[in-house]
Amino acid sequence: MDLKKYIRDVPDFPKKGIIFKDITPLLQDSGAFQYSLQAMTSPWKGIKIDSVLAIESRGFIFGGAMAAQNDWKFIPLRKEGKLPYHKLSESYSLEYGTNTVEIHKDALQKGENVLIVDDLLATGGTIKAGINLVEKLEANVAGIVALIELTFLEGKKQFQGYEFCSILKY
Ligand code: AMP
Repeated sequence: MDLKKYIRDVPDFPKKGIIFKDITPLLQDSGAFQYSLQAMTSPWKGIKIDSVLAIESRGFIFGGAMAAQNDWKFIPLRKEGKLPYHKLSESYSLEYGTNTVEIHKDALQKGENVLIVDDLLATGGTIKAGINLVEKLEANVAGIVALIELTFLEGKKQFQGYEFCSILKY
């Protein structure tokens, strides 16, 4: 299936010069959505995964479905101030601005295997912040998956040595 035809380019959103990759056409087609979930899950067959750490907010769409389908725990990595309980924070740079993400301190057990899920890899700052938080909680990053990778930004240089997979490359 040619998933790229379900990704809409929106120029100058949310800032001038950014071409936003809009996944909503893909989500409106259940076949394309299911195909995406399958493509994001299949590289990890044979690897022990205990939990999905999904990145707010579009990472929740893919990570939530993947966790439920595969009997993995779902852990939200949220923007600052959204999680209600005791948490750890990590700041990072975005393609457009800066941000802080947080995880509940009791979200992961020591030594558990975590798959990090997001819709899109741009500069890699968000995923790197997720890796740092997983490791602060003494869990293992078993893999990282994004539906879309903006290869020209070379975001995966931020996490060399980790298992990373993307489905659609631009
Ligand atoms: P980064 O930390 O730079 O890899 O940014 C990744 C996060 O920002 C992801 O959660 C994306 O949803 C969002 N993002 C960054 N750039 C874009 C883009 N051009 N189109 C859509 N989402 C983007």
